[in-house]
Amino acid sequence: MAIEVDYSDVAGKKADCPEGCGMCCLCQPEVLPEERAFFRTKYPKMMVKSKCADQHFALAMKKGRGSCVFLNGRRCDIYQNRTTYCRQFPYHFYISDRIKVELDLSCRGVWTGKGNDAEEEARALAQASERRLTMTLKEASSVYKEFYSICKETGVMCDVSQLRMSVSENLKNFTNLAYIAKAMDLSLEEPKMSLERVTADSKFDLKNLTEAAMEASLGSMGSNDPLNVPVYCDPKYNWNMFMANGNTIELTVMDDDGDLHHKGFVDARDIELKEPDENGKKVLADYISILNGRDSFLGNVFYMMDELGYEDDMANSYYGALCATIIDLLWRASLLDHFFGTGMGAEGMKEAIIFYDMDRLDAPTIGAFV
Ligand code: SF4
Ligand code: SF4
Repeated sequence: MAIEVDYSDVAGKKADCPEGCGMCCLCQPEVLPEERAFFRTKYPKMMVKSKCADQHFALAMKKGRGSCVFLNGRRCDIYQNRTTYCRQFPYHFYISDRIKVELDLSCRGVWTGKGNDAEEEARALAQASERRLTMTLKEASSVYKEFYSICKETGVMCDVSQLRMSVSENLKNFTNLAYIAKAMDLSLEEPKMSLERVTADSKFDLKNLTEAAMEASLGSMGSNDPLNVPVYCDPKYNWNMFMANGNTIELTVMDDDGDLHHKGFVDARDIELKEPDENGKKVLADYISILNGRDSFLGNVFYMMDELGYEDDMANSYYGALCATIIDLLWRASLLDHFFGTGMGAEGMKEAIIFYDMDRLDAPTIGAFV
């Protein structure tokens, strides 16, 4: 019997890989046990222990920090033998108490409207990884079972489908800063929050909201290791990297040899959090709808609830996390606008999602990506 996977996130979509991008080759791919013999025999120096805590084997990177060593002129030298993780990009199989495939919107190939049928590709990949998916599902299901049982015991449980439904009915509201500010306040103040009580407050404190957004964004930029900072692959496929030292953000571009070239500085406090225009709001609302349907987003909310000792109701945690995500994205859109003049319209929102989505999918969760 074929493994059960939810393909709704990729249904009806296409995925292409335009020449010259290579952005996903900046993520050090894991080499699975069954793939190691090939690299040990043919490229013994190209397989290394990854820098991650779990110490798995991965492909080496140029100068230990750049793209994968096999990327040559933005083409893969070992394309027919690339790892499973390389083959899977931009699809991610997220395992909770079920399996759902999620599409990485940082990949420019999924925005072209051209290429292969995404669902067909994802089905073939799921079939090829069936054993690993099944094994991980067993482990993740028991983690989720335990999580739900603690939520019930502590009285913070909610009906997840109702939470998602309430967000679906309010997508447009979540593109409005005044509404987000109010929702964030209520998520902190009310014992069990409901969106029915959220009304946009036109006198909200933009300075406070900007600071919260800035802190969220700076959190992911505060490293001097290029492997750990956000990458924005621009329309010309430049790999832009943002590194923060205190409030100072440096923009550098990584070249194909793994060297960084300084492009500019900005004081993060000079970035003003902006609201998208009407066209930008439509793109943002679509993205919020995707986040709302992603099991990995839910898994990240559950991770935070666990970290915080089940203090907050699931509804407060869910709406609060969604608002924090949206302002983080909007602040990054404002940052891109500062450096690249991308604006806050449909194009600006699209570029911000391309910049942000890989980090979003990388957020800690109680489930697992396979
Ligand atoms: S990020 Fe997408 S478009 Fe770019 S190289 Fe990877 S698969 Fe191709
Ligand atoms: S093996 Fe090929 S596809 Fe995979 S990261 Fe390296 S260059 Fe990219």
